[in-house]
Amino acid sequence: MELELEPLRLPSDTERPFVIAGPCSAETEEQVMETARLLAMKGCRMFRAGVWKPRTKPGGFEGNGEKALPWLVRVKQETGMLVATEVATPEHIELALKYGIDILWVGARTSANPFAMQAMADALKGVDIPVFVKNPVNPDLELWIGAMERINQAGIKRMAAVHRGFSSYDKKIYRNLPMWQIPIELHRRIPELPMICDPSHIGGRRELIAPLCQQALDLGFDGLLIESHCDPDKAWSDAKQQVTPDVLDYILSLLVVRSETNTTE
Ligand code: PEP
Ligand code: MN
Repeated sequence: MELELEPLRLPSDTERPFVIAGPCSAETEEQVMETARLLAMKGCRMFRAGVWKPRTKPGGFEGNGEKALPWLVRVKQETGMLVATEVATPEHIELALKYGIDILWVGARTSANPFAMQAMADALKGVDIPVFVKNPVNPDLELWIGAMERINQAGIKRMAAVHRGFSSYDKKIYRNLPMWQIPIELHRRIPELPMICDPSHIGGRRELIAPLCQQALDLGFDGLLIESHCDPDKAWSDAKQQVTPDVLDYILSLLVVRSETNTTE
């Protein structure tokens, strides 16, 4: 065993898979609150929103930073959902903890960088918070495991791996190739590590979310991380891959949960 883990102890629904949903980015307080209210009405228990956005090119919207953290606090207070955001530096971690963010995730560009991972691991020493680690952008299982080992060695025991696909020059179908053999091999190596699929960043377009969710469940994934926005076409980042809370609810209602492998309890 390469990681020392404890159960995630996060809310999950008995009839539906464990889902974390919310917009790619926290754009405005109104957009965050509107999306969160609609998701909560559909029974969603965990909310995601990016506050620090790692954009491929400069000049785009790079997130509202600390200004958006009180919006997530408001989501918690008004809907009861747990809130999750992406962190990429020790300063992000310090701020997220200061505002009481419930779940942290490490993005695919950051998990590819051992220096950044070690700096974040050092900032997490003595902290008890669930940390999800997305796969590195490149298809390197050892780098992914190494990133998780650094966080785990800092004392973080509630962890999950997020499969968000791997960068490729070939964008015919997927934005990021799923290469399912990699998360499958990760599960074989570390069976007790919860596995979450992010169909939004694999597909890159909303029509692929439903089939990718079903494929993930059929492969025994424990949960789903899905981008949902109150007005997807107007989203400031990743507009093509976001769905309204209504459509998300419809997609989730169609999923057939066949496996009994949930390890998130
Ligand atoms: C995101 O979740 O919005 C994000 C930036 O994801 P990734 O790190 O998988 O590209
Ligand atoms: Mn996104």
